[in-house]
Amino acid sequence: MAVQVLFAAKPARWVEYEAPLRRALKEAGIEATIACDLPAQTVEYIVYAPNSDVQDFSVFPKLKAVLNLWAGVETVAPNPTLNVPLARMVDHGLTQGMKEWVSGHVLRHHLGIDAHIINPDHLWQAIAPPLAQDRAVTILGLGELGAVCAQTLATFGFQVSGWSRSQKSIKGVTCYSRKDGLKAALSGAEIVVLLLPDTPATENALDAESLSWLAKGAAIINPGRGPLIDDEALLDALDSGQIGHATLDVFRVEPLPQDHPFWAHPNVTVTPHIASETRTWTASQCVAENIRRGEAGAPLLHLVDRSAGY
Ligand code: NAP
Repeated sequence: MAVQVLFAAKPARWVEYEAPLRRALKEAGIEATIACDLPAQTVEYIVYAPNSDVQDFSVFPKLKAVLNLWAGVETVAPNPTLNVPLARMVDHGLTQGMKEWVSGHVLRHHLGIDAHIINPDHLWQAIAPPLAQDRAVTILGLGELGAVCAQTLATFGFQVSGWSRSQKSIKGVTCYSRKDGLKAALSGAEIVVLLLPDTPATENALDAESLSWLAKGAAIINPGRGPLIDDEALLDALDSGQIGHATLDVFRVEPLPQDHPFWAHPNVTVTPHIASETRTWTASQCVAENIRRGEAGAPLLHLVDRSAGY
């Protein structure tokens, strides 16, 4: 009997994912029926985007696992109707994309590129940037994405620090952990990248107090999630000059409302949640591998710890 797989995401995603998912399932040796509309009582796996119409998992009596298409799980992890394992997306394309996006934006601030691009008075500003070895960069979150970004920035020679819940050891990176490590990780940082998940414990990781620990004029780069930053505290810190620039890819409300002060602030760059995208082929392979494991009775990869929220 073919494994019954429901694809629960916005219809446009099915157009992108149908062919790669069918191919990945076939290559994994799985005989599957996969569709975006199946009788609820037959469904065994759900390939899931949290913005899909499926929000009540209790209607799927044979459900074995939910396989999230996104890295972030903040809207599905707390769902009380979900009583089966939840796996999240860890995808080579997603990691590579984030590495490139973070490196680009860190280098923009490190090199002061804007001063040369936006130079209406044609000033001859011969101020050379410092070398990376003289620049302190901190990454909050040293998981799948943060660790790779930290390693990459370390290879440029930046003084890289990182912060995570459990203690890490990453070559070229000074690693701090737990709540009391946050101050040490942020103190004196000139560029801060947020790659934490959105959980009750990470909300407002950057607030008025923690922003005050950074070097004056520091740059904030947030491709993590909007609630990691206290927006009001960030605007105050931008206005006082404590923060020199914020590059924000994610927001508490998306799309960012047109009247939000971030749009108009001269020292804020808004990007529309494009830091990194799940790539259909590598993501389909990740999904197919987990269905293969589920059917073989093997532990699923990339399981979410729902008590921690990520
Ligand atoms: P991950 O592998 O789960 O890593 C999360 C990291 O945050 C881990 O190092 C974890 O510590 C740390 N952490 C969690 N709670 C913490 C706490 N209370 N205090 C200190 N550290 C804490 O996640 P990921 O795959 O790297 O992704 C990170 C986030 O990026 C996602 O949750 C998502 O929101 C965002 N994202 C954004 C985009 C975009 O396009 N903008 C794309 C993909 C992902 P441990 O290592 O000790 O567990």
